[in-house]
Amino acid sequence: MRGLVIKNTGSWYTVLTDDGQLIECKIKGNFRLKGIRSTNPVAVGDRVEIVPNNEGTAFITEIEDRRNYIIRKSINLSKQSHILAANVDQAILVVTVVNPQTSTTFIDRFLASAEAYRVPVILVFNKTDLLDEDTRRYQEAMVHLYQTIGYECYQISAETGAGVEALQPLLKDKITLLSGNSGVGKSTLINRLVPGASQRTAEISDAHNTGQHTTTFSEMIRLDEGWLIDTPGIKGFGTFDMEPEELTSYFKEIFRFSQDCKFSNCTHTHEPGCAVLKALEDHYIAESRYQSYLSMLEDKDEGKYRAAY
Ligand code: GDP
Ligand code: ZN
Repeated sequence: MRGLVIKNTGSWYTVLTDDGQLIECKIKGNFRLKGIRSTNPVAVGDRVEIVPNNEGTAFITEIEDRRNYIIRKSINLSKQSHILAANVDQAILVVTVVNPQTSTTFIDRFLASAEAYRVPVILVFNKTDLLDEDTRRYQEAMVHLYQTIGYECYQISAETGAGVEALQPLLKDKITLLSGNSGVGKSTLINRLVPGASQRTAEISDAHNTGQHTTTFSEMIRLDEGWLIDTPGIKGFGTFDMEPEELTSYFKEIFRFSQDCKFSNCTHTHEPGCAVLKALEDHYIAESRYQSYLSMLEDKDEGKYRAAY
C-alpha cells in the first residue's frame, strides 16, 4: 500500500493511504540518508510504501525519492539532524509589525535560508486590524521593500478574516510550510483556513500516542486541495556551509548588484570597487537588508551555528 506521511510523533508516523485510510506506522529497516545522521529517517510529506501488520498498524518499508527536504541540524555535538518536512512546495512566513514585532533580521534570515533550499516564500503580514497610522505606514514600507526584491506579500487579519481568502488559491495542490515566530497568529490563521483543524489534530494524536514521550512533532493539515505543514519552532531552514559569494546569492537584490563588484570574491564589507556598498550608499539596497546580510556573514566568520532559529 502507498500513502503520504502526514504526522510524525517520536517513532510513530501517521500515513494517509492512497485509498483514504489513516494508519499508524513504524519504520522497518534502515533508511539512512546518505551522509546525514537523523533522528527521523521518514518525515511529513514523504510518500511511502507500507505493509500492514495484524495489530491494525503497519510498517513503512520504502520511501519514494524526495523532491526536497528540510533538515534541522542539531546545535549540540551529537550531529543528529531532524528532517522537518519533505517535498515542500513553498513556505508562508507569517510576520507582524506589532504585538509582537517581527524583526527584519529574522525575516531576512528566513528568506535567505529558503533561497538556499530553493523554497519560494510568501510573506503574510498578519494583525492588520491592530495597525495605527504609524505602524500601517511602516508595514506598507516593508511590503514595498519585499515586493521590490521579488517576494509576494499579503496583508491579512487572521482574527477578523480580512484578506485571508486571497491566500486560498495559493495553497491549491501544494504542500505549504507555515512558519513564523510564536504569537504572530499561525494557529489563528490555520483555524481560519481549516475550521476545526485544532480539534482534529487532537483527535488524531489521542488515537495512538498516549503516554508516549515525544520530543519532536510535525504534522500536515489537510486543506480542501493541498496541505499545510505546521512545524512548531521552525524559524528558518537548516544551516548550510557556504562561501560569502554563496551567501550573497541568497539575498536577491544584493546578488544583482554584486555582479558589478570589482572582485569576484567580494564580501561587500570593505573592498574597493564594491558595487553593493555603492548601491547601499545610493539607497538602492535597504540598510536593514544589508545589516541582515552582515549578521549572517559574521555568524559564518565566527563559525557559529547560523541558522535562523
Ligand atoms: P501562533 O503562536 O503563531 O500560533 O499565534 P496564535 O494564533 O496563537 O495567536 C497569538 C495571539 O494573537 C492570540 O491571542 C490570537 O488571538 C492573536 N491574534 C492572531 N491573529 C490576530 C489578528 O489578526 N489580529 C489580532 N488583533 N490578534 C490576532
Ligand atoms: Zn562587493
